[in-house]
Amino acid sequence: MQVTFWGTRGSIAKAGPSTLRYGGNTSCVEVRSDAGTIVVLDCGTGAHGLGQALVARSGGAPMEGHLLIGHTHWDHIQGLPFFAPLFLPDNTWHIYGPRGLGGSIAEVLAGQMQYAYFPVAIEQLTATVDYHDLVESTFDIDGIRVTSRYLNHPALTLGYRLEVDGATVVYATDHEPHDRRLAAGGDPATSRHDLDHAALFAGADLLIHDAQYLAEEYPHKVGWGHSTVEYVVSVAHQAGVKQVALFHHDPARTDDALEDVVTQARAFGTDIGFAGQVIAAAEQDTIELRGAASGVRGGTRPIPKPELDHMARSVLLAVSSPEIATVLRQAAHEEDLEVWEAADQAEAIEIVRRERPAIVVIEDRDDGPVLADFTDAIAATGRWRGDGSTLIAVTADGHQSTAGDAVAITDVLEWPATPGYVRTKLRAWLLRRACRWQTAPLPREEAARLRSLHALEVLDTDPEPRFDRYTDLASSTFDVPVALITLIDEDRQWFKSRHGVDVAETPRDMAVCAYTILGSDVFQVPDAFADPRFADNPLVASGPRFRFYAGAPLTLANGTRAGTLCVVDHRPRLLDDDQLAELVHLAALVTAELEAD
Ligand SMILES: [Zn+2]
Ligand SMILES: [Zn+2]
Repeated sequence: MQVTFWGTRGSIAKAGPSTLRYGGNTSCVEVRSDAGTIVVLDCGTGAHGLGQALVARSGGAPMEGHLLIGHTHWDHIQGLPFFAPLFLPDNTWHIYGPRGLGGSIAEVLAGQMQYAYFPVAIEQLTATVDYHDLVESTFDIDGIRVTSRYLNHPALTLGYRLEVDGATVVYATDHEPHDRRLAAGGDPATSRHDLDHAALFAGADLLIHDAQYLAEEYPHKVGWGHSTVEYVVSVAHQAGVKQVALFHHDPARTDDALEDVVTQARAFGTDIGFAGQVIAAAEQDTIELRGAASGVRGGTRPIPKPELDHMARSVLLAVSSPEIATVLRQAAHEEDLEVWEAADQAEAIEIVRRERPAIVVIEDRDDGPVLADFTDAIAATGRWRGDGSTLIAVTADGHQSTAGDAVAITDVLEWPATPGYVRTKLRAWLLRRACRWQTAPLPREEAARLRSLHALEVLDTDPEPRFDRYTDLASSTFDVPVALITLIDEDRQWFKSRHGVDVAETPRDMAVCAYTILGSDVFQVPDAFADPRFADNPLVASGPRFRFYAGAPLTLANGTRAGTLCVVDHRPRLLDDDQLAELVHLAALVTAELEAD
């Protein structure tokens, strides 16, 4: 694929002699797959030049394209009314962006084209325009696999991972470190939420990342929603990124200053052992990405449409600092949420039990209740995770929080935080709650794995006693209600044998077994309710409501893993070493049966 920068500047366009080399236009990046699919990332003022180029290239032929908006701050959408392809009647454009709780992306974009701001209304665009509201998900655009994840910014913002032609590019702007201490370039492994952020660009060939500031400038920019160069290099190192393009350049940064920033970034990268390249994104530069062709067919994943209209919109504030409570209360009202407030831990527990709030915000402070006790008490009500409630810790400045270690804590809100940040967090927490679980990545050598699976000629065959005896045996051996022989097909998990389950298959997206086949060991989930990868998975949050899972991979003679032998329970558990060995032993017997002629 080809990646071309049309706008690299952050916050506001900066034309003039001091920005000739790296460009003065705001965020706009073009990605073109080998098949010719056009994806445009953000629509800042750089979109004007891109639009002209696209129209010239098309020679008047009808054009289809996809515009992914990360968020709707001015510098990311201001080029939209000047993007020529939208004004040609034979063209079709799909516009994607984060959906809010109330307004759709179409409504938000229409705002900047109201008569007071612009003479042409959005309804008057002559191209056919389809709008797509996004949440965190994975979906397909003409063979490009797109993964969207929320970033940390005072507006609901999505970062995008694009995988096609065996290569991966990630666009992540605007974003501030979750743990502000990492702005100086500390080890991301110390912060669970920054590790999650790095997972979005794991192994990427190119990471385009907000790097507006240097660590030395950050103390004056805390809470503005942007990253430092040192943070970006650290998370890129953590994620094994091959090339980083520093992006969203500060409007005050001259070309010469930016060259110094790159020099500093490279030196920092050398210090921490980062093996990848560091560049600064420059307007009109094109980068060719050539991955090792994986031969994996994408499979079509539609854009999920969560049932947001029916979700609970309520928050419990168990916060004692008047200043923090005031900002949270105000933000919750602005987001149209029902608010409960608890004076102390006992009252908070009582409200959780009675009202089942969607979000619980508790304050983590030196003189407050011990965080772990508090979260344990909330968990013990049984009215938590089970209905997907989100538990947030607010951490005051300088307080050595233990929130990052508490699995029960879904997210951390660092204080001080602006009202904009707080509103964004409330929104993201609710949207996440409405629709989130993490699907497993594809194994390496997935194409070969699928070939081996299909060669077994066992998919969609009738039940057979020679398999059923193993699921029956596993159920009694481990005293579990459910035991399965699961085969992971391209888009589904199909059960060759099932003890205690009615359905014959589920979508692969829901399959915990899809995680199991990533490794050679038993994969255990002691309590799915408390695991952010599975808490909102429909198999956990509704339907079968499983809590415990343990699966042993079915490893074929050629080393590929066709599926699993797994056991499932409705209560939290953990297998001991002897039990693990027994599960592996049974899995080997199942594999032998699979490979028997
Ligand atoms: Zn921006
Ligand atoms: Zn922004």
